[in-house]
Amino acid sequence: MVNTPCAHANTRELSRLANCTLYECGDCGLVFNEHYLKETDPHELYEEYYQNETAKRFNFGIEAIIRTFRFYRAFKIFTIYPSAKTILDVGSGRGFMLFFLKKYFGYTRAAGIQISRNAVQFSREKLGLEIYDRDLMELQFANGAFDVISMWHVLEHLKHPEKYLEKLASMLAPGGRLIIEVPNFNSWTRAFSGCYWLGLDPGFHLTYFSPKQFMNLFEKYGLSAKLRHTFSLEYSTFHSAQSIVSLLTGTDHFFFRFMQEAKFTPALILHIFLFLLVTPPCFLVNLLLYFSGRGEVLLVVAEKPRDGKAG
Ligand SMILES: [Zn+2]
Repeated sequence: MVNTPCAHANTRELSRLANCTLYECGDCGLVFNEHYLKETDPHELYEEYYQNETAKRFNFGIEAIIRTFRFYRAFKIFTIYPSAKTILDVGSGRGFMLFFLKKYFGYTRAAGIQISRNAVQFSREKLGLEIYDRDLMELQFANGAFDVISMWHVLEHLKHPEKYLEKLASMLAPGGRLIIEVPNFNSWTRAFSGCYWLGLDPGFHLTYFSPKQFMNLFEKYGLSAKLRHTFSLEYSTFHSAQSIVSLLTGTDHFFFRFMQEAKFTPALILHIFLFLLVTPPCFLVNLLLYFSGRGEVLLVVAEKPRDGKAG
């Protein structure tokens, strides 16, 4: 069976928001914004994504928290497929997750793909990792080269998600797992926050996935996919809280940008107050929605059949 990526020939306007217009493909169900229709150069967008030689993205000790989350991610991968020994992480950030998998979970090969220059340098020089600084589609890996391929919050940035999935499926070893997390377009906050939903991120995010349509994509390329859950300890609570605070104040993710830019303004006091107010209920709601399909992320684990015909 030969699969070709959907050409999205049957597209309709889904909603016109203040910061972007959303379209939906009537054939495959993919939702995308107007930036998806333009030609963009990923190198231009992401080369400076990480700040400097330490490749930080955030201030105020948040980096230490992120490292803890990367360890948790490594542990999660271990629990999903304990016997795995090789991994490719597409969009590997600074590489902490790969570093932990090698150091603590017996991985013999931990490779990453990353195009942000500072992050590449950091993971190669400081963590000693095998990092490729080109787009996956320009790279050659052997068929069946990896037990696990992971992609955390990357697929929604890509121009050709289906071509990626097809290639990733072929690179998986028989029985191997593709582990992908993306924002959930069906999330509870997306339903009412309109243009203030944090996952919208027009300019960086090109496509939006909802559970059923996402599962179909994996099945199309011969993988047996399961939606593991829609809760992320790292993303969900903040994602909901920021979307709600932005909606209440009519601002463009003020606190999220403050954490990256660290420029103090008096308005920050109001934003912090609102965050303190909405964070506990957001955590609770996301926890209740753990397996519901309405949480803030989709974490999918897709297995390649042992007969190895996928891709
Ligand atoms: Zn389509």
